[in-house]
Amino acid sequence: MLAGAIDGGGTKVMTGIVDDGGKILSSRTESVPPKDVAAYFNHCAEMLKSCAAEANVTLEQLDGVGMSIPGMTDGKDWVYGSPSAGWGPFSALSLLVPSLGLPAEKIHLENDINACALAELRFGGGGRDFVWLTISTGNGGAVVANGELVRGKSFCAGELGHLKVEYDHPVRCGCGGYGCLEAHASGPAIARMCREIGLNTDAAGCAALCRQGDERALAVYKNAGMY
Ligand SMILES: [Zn+2]
Repeated sequence: MLAGAIDGGGTKVMTGIVDDGGKILSSRTESVPPKDVAAYFNHCAEMLKSCAAEANVTLEQLDGVGMSIPGMTDGKDWVYGSPSAGWGPFSALSLLVPSLGLPAEKIHLENDINACALAELRFGGGGRDFVWLTISTGNGGAVVANGELVRGKSFCAGELGHLKVEYDHPVRCGCGGYGCLEAHASGPAIARMCREIGLNTDAAGCAALCRQGDERALAVYKNAGMY
């Protein structure tokens, strides 16, 4: 079985042709400005076509194409919006069907964080019941229970980024609230905690210092982990 994969990010797009063991046969990564939604989806389709050509297949020969969306989606067609890409609501299939030249039933959508959780379920070691957390510019989450992704009534189950975790010294969050998980344990929050103790580095630099056993960086990580 062969599938086409599109990882649509807020600024970066990755596409690839993969087999059912998860082996990547060809891939591309490009920066794609998300502002013009139609142009963005067209560009994603063109990138996938190049990947298919490189893997010596046509899109019609693929068993399906899956796309992860950096925002809320019903998992079928509708994208409700994406704060990171600056998108309002739209129908993804109305853009993907013509640009890929495939029937709607061969195209699958998933929220990017849910897609991470589904990959963990299939290829990782999390078992059949776990919470997935993405620690990045923002914090996203997904819940898998009894081997099934929990979507929730409005498709936002497991979005734990704005759960309140700090009441004594809450920091202002991008959402306007105070003390959210995202304000205390995201990439920028880790960088802020580093600065507060005089470590001039970002979250990736903090991770590198942790691997070298740096006590101060480890303390920042433990703190973020506690939240
Ligand atoms: Zn918040």
